[in-house]
Amino acid sequence: MMQSDVVICGGAVIGSAIAWNLGQIAPELTVTIIERDPSFQHSSTALSASGIRQQFSDPLNVAISRFGVDFIKKTPTRWGLDLNLHQQGYLYLSNTDSGAQILRENHAVQCGAGADVTLLSTDELKSRFSHLNTGDLTLASLGLSGEGWFDSVGLMQGYQAHSNATRLKDEVSGLKLQSGKVASVRLASGSEIACGAFINAAGPYAAEIAAMAGINLPIEPRKRTNFTFDCATPPQHGLPLMIDPSGVWVRPEGRHFLCGCIPENDPAVAHDDFEPRFQEFEEIIWPALAARSPAFEAIKMQAMWAGHYAYNVLDQNAVAGAHPEIENLYFANGFSGHGLQQAPAIGRGVAELVAQGSYKTLDLSPLGYDRILRNEPLLEKCVI
Ligand SMILES: Cc1cc2nc3c(=O)[nH]c(=O)nc-3n(C[C@H](O)[C@H](O)[C@H](O)COP(=O)(O)OP(=O)(O)OC[C@H]3O[C@@H](n4cnc5c(N)ncnc54)[C@H](O)[C@@H]3O)c2cc1C
Repeated sequence: MMQSDVVICGGAVIGSAIAWNLGQIAPELTVTIIERDPSFQHSSTALSASGIRQQFSDPLNVAISRFGVDFIKKTPTRWGLDLNLHQQGYLYLSNTDSGAQILRENHAVQCGAGADVTLLSTDELKSRFSHLNTGDLTLASLGLSGEGWFDSVGLMQGYQAHSNATRLKDEVSGLKLQSGKVASVRLASGSEIACGAFINAAGPYAAEIAAMAGINLPIEPRKRTNFTFDCATPPQHGLPLMIDPSGVWVRPEGRHFLCGCIPENDPAVAHDDFEPRFQEFEEIIWPALAARSPAFEAIKMQAMWAGHYAYNVLDQNAVAGAHPEIENLYFANGFSGHGLQQAPAIGRGVAELVAQGSYKTLDLSPLGYDRILRNEPLLEKCVI
């Protein structure tokens, strides 16, 4: 039987970030990544909108993203990689008094956690982005630095290229438990790997992997469709990633724009269902954008694709850290729509926990699996 100190199921951005960090912290450990599809064509990582923001309501999520942007600014440069970080900010709009109050509360949390975010009255918003219709709005919140978008696949490939982990093209098909621990990992090829620690980084398949150890993990594949469009007369003063009160979001993508929405119907989907929901563009996105800015009245859809969120049904937040009883089984799952930006901090934290027994850089324990057992959501108001 093969042996590895650490076995990671899933080799996209999260699995690769953990492997790279293990190499930095504990180079003496042998690390094996099992990845079923090294093309990553259906991974959330490859299909992501690649955004990073500091505008969360939970201070830990703000700190995680601040760690992420700092990493993205510095480390890829040392690797000789340009991840094309566009720090154009996120712009949240509210159209009710209660929405404005939430933006104010979030702003206080974000500033307390060191984020560079400002509130804009509707007059200030209009003077910065004159093409926007602001008549129905009550307040806006704009990230001034440390927010934007970057090359998601580049980040994953950077981690992969600079890690000594062994990568096997295979599928985790079972876990063998012995004395309350994961003793070995069974692979679809028929091989088995004895392990000291096992990490679930299987994205939308996380629940199936957890079930192999008899664990219930409330994570489902939920479909999100992204669209690019061409704009006949683009807005003159540029645009951050704007999140309309309707939940429709849009941002520049080269000379085009990228957009999406929160689906009205959002069931779990089959793992192989990547059919884009074209009607979201026609029925939800275009009407909302055209109402928000005349620049978006004449637009032409260019491309669309669907990817899967690993959707944490309890609270749409990550589940990270060790299982309370099966102590050598670690989660790095359930990121919903914000896992790409969390990869640097989660990779660091989970590696610290595995190699050093506790979190050293950021205390990620509020993201632990025990909240699932207690059925106590970690409330995050800024979810898209
Ligand atoms: C449309 C869309 C837009 C998004 N936009 C953003 C955004 O703007 N910002 C942001 O931060 N996040 C965003 N996200 C979320 C982000 O992309 C994910 O949270 C992140 O990529 C998760 O990475 P992962 O490595 O956990 O999962 P994945 O990238 O899905 O990788 C999981 C890997 O596990 C492998 N695997 C699964 N089961 C097995 C098995 N049994 N054996 C072997 N291998 C297995 C899969 O093949 C896959 O490669 C978006 C996601 C989608 C779908």
